[in-house]
Amino acid sequence: MIDNALFAPVTNLKGVGTKTAADLGSLGIYSIYDLLFYFPFRYDELQTLPLDQIMDGQKVMLKGIVATEPFVSRFGYKKSRLSFKMRIDHDIIMVNFFNQPWLKSKIEIGQEVAIYGKYNVARQSLSAFKFVAAKENDSGIAPIYPLNRHVKQKKLVTLINLAIDDFLEQVKDIVPKEIRQKYRLLTDREIIQKMHHPNNGREAEIAKRSAIFREFFIFELQLALLTRNDGQQKGYPKDYDLKEIAKLTSSLPFELSADQKQVVNEIFADLHSERQMRRLLQGDVGSGKTVVAIYAIFSAITAGYQAALMVPTEILATQHFKKIDELLRPLGVRVALLTGNTKTLERREIYRELTDGTINVVIGTHALIQKNVIFKKLGLVIIDEQHRFGVGQRQALINKGDNPDILAMTATPIPRTLALTVYGDMTVSEIHHLPSGRKPIISVWKTSSQMKDVYQQMKEQLAQGFQIYAVTPLITESETLDLKNAEELHQKLSHDFPDQKVVLLHGQMPGPKKDEIMECFANGDINILVTTSVIEVGVDVANANMMVIYNADRFGLSQLHQLRGRIGRGQTQSYCVFVADPKTDAGKARMKVIAATNDGFKLAEEDLKMRGEGDLFGKAQSGLPEFRVGDVVNNYNTLVVAQKVARELVKADPGLKDHKTLKQVLEYKQLEQNRI
Ligand code: ADP
Ligand code: MG
Repeated sequence: MIDNALFAPVTNLKGVGTKTAADLGSLGIYSIYDLLFYFPFRYDELQTLPLDQIMDGQKVMLKGIVATEPFVSRFGYKKSRLSFKMRIDHDIIMVNFFNQPWLKSKIEIGQEVAIYGKYNVARQSLSAFKFVAAKENDSGIAPIYPLNRHVKQKKLVTLINLAIDDFLEQVKDIVPKEIRQKYRLLTDREIIQKMHHPNNGREAEIAKRSAIFREFFIFELQLALLTRNDGQQKGYPKDYDLKEIAKLTSSLPFELSADQKQVVNEIFADLHSERQMRRLLQGDVGSGKTVVAIYAIFSAITAGYQAALMVPTEILATQHFKKIDELLRPLGVRVALLTGNTKTLERREIYRELTDGTINVVIGTHALIQKNVIFKKLGLVIIDEQHRFGVGQRQALINKGDNPDILAMTATPIPRTLALTVYGDMTVSEIHHLPSGRKPIISVWKTSSQMKDVYQQMKEQLAQGFQIYAVTPLITESETLDLKNAEELHQKLSHDFPDQKVVLLHGQMPGPKKDEIMECFANGDINILVTTSVIEVGVDVANANMMVIYNADRFGLSQLHQLRGRIGRGQTQSYCVFVADPKTDAGKARMKVIAATNDGFKLAEEDLKMRGEGDLFGKAQSGLPEFRVGDVVNNYNTLVVAQKVARELVKADPGLKDHKTLKQVLEYKQLEQNRI
């Protein structure tokens, strides 16, 4: 354990037991340090203003007295409005809460309330977001934390305050003083205080600027330590067996595309060289990266090494495993699958056979970075969808070998300069053209008033024996609500397509259940698969040739493209329907772009542009690592400075001898990212 009270588990706080600790763990909070640095993702300005000073559409907090009995009216599909009149001094305004009918029981005539919402001047009405009992809040600004169903805001705030009271004094800065002064950054203590308890919006902004720098600085330090030898890192030349590799080539049911051949050759050269390979393979979804990875794996194995392939989800791990096992087993390769769901006995067996070298290649999720996984001779590490893993996680797997060759893959290309800033020094390979003979997917954008056409087309496809994906986005900050969306869609489609087998697959299902459903879908036993974005990466079912994406305007372009990539995998024509009713011009433009463009590189560029303009929906699946406070596009300049500063620091003090606290934080991060 690192010698620092801040890194102690949350149970070291007064009154925090194992239950609370487990709940916090579900948010990724394990230690007191984590609590202190678990920042709000936004603030509600709770300033109350006199009615005549509020501009139309402004978000405000209004305090007043409930003047009429709240009334709930229901309309449309599961929608409701709860309304009542509120008296503010001598004025009466209308308050409307949408889709929160349960608030009715909390609101009584004569009660003093404070309500946060958006004010409509002409109608003198408040479209309310949030109900606050009047006494509760007077500070003018309320931090809003990312939460889940296990941890409520109130509880979290209490715990954070407890941590601040007892431990703030022990927090030491990690950004060196000269740098802090040069870039006018706050100290760590100030950051904690002001992020959690700003006195006003401006103070929160200032604190956030420093928090972002701090976050990027840590990240870039990890990267700098990782790639400190600037690509000159020594590796082991691998003497692969071309005769064996020719057997792989002749067993493939297709010929490699020109781009694939080129990348395979680049990888061969890397494997052969004395330097460690650090290659990033960018290729559109469906471009055939897996088979390239298989070449790399097999070559390393013929040279006497083991290989590991790490992917972000179980579904993907299982799919890769099947494909790789099918191709490589006949060539005498032992392939294993290791995920969080691997049964204990089997797991032990795998550990043993990895250590004694019986297993040649293991495919898995984060389970691969567990302590017990010890290789005999790991020579190649492949990380698929690498932006989904933290630097520490990637490093943990890499450390299981002795300077193994590294191949990272991503289906969401990002511009080179950005790639260098977020991934460090890697050589970039690209696959631009899809394998030949693929029919381009026909995409259309439909509004919900055109669902009849969509249903018609679905029926035609189903009648021909094809299968369909129906996808709903993750649209809220709450998992439970998202699940509800998917469940509702499942009900609706089951009702509307009574003679088809309609099945729901979502992220919160246990792994074996997910596998089972995917298996059924792959076997053709399910006609319509209703799913959230769990399906986004890697799944490969050629007979599914239609996808309907609901609320498509809630996804980023790259993510839509990723989803769409699940179809168009067979010989038949595929269709993708984006159902969306965007209100803004930008939203409409996005739907037009995605329906008109099949080029992932181009869409990624568009996505970044829009994201740069503050578009939040672009965030998921944009091919970029996720940060807690920072955003690599919107805060790009900060990222560049952080990179520069981090590199200089590592150069001057590679062992971080003069930066004890910093070193501890990095060690802690490493531990933390390897938690499963
Ligand atoms: P990616 O991982 O890049 O999204 P995959 O590796 O899953 O793409 O490949 C998509 C599909 O294309 C797979 O079914 C694969 O077997 C097939 N494929 C790959 N390369 C070729 C090729 N050269 N010719 C024909 N089909 C190919
Ligand atoms: Mg893939």
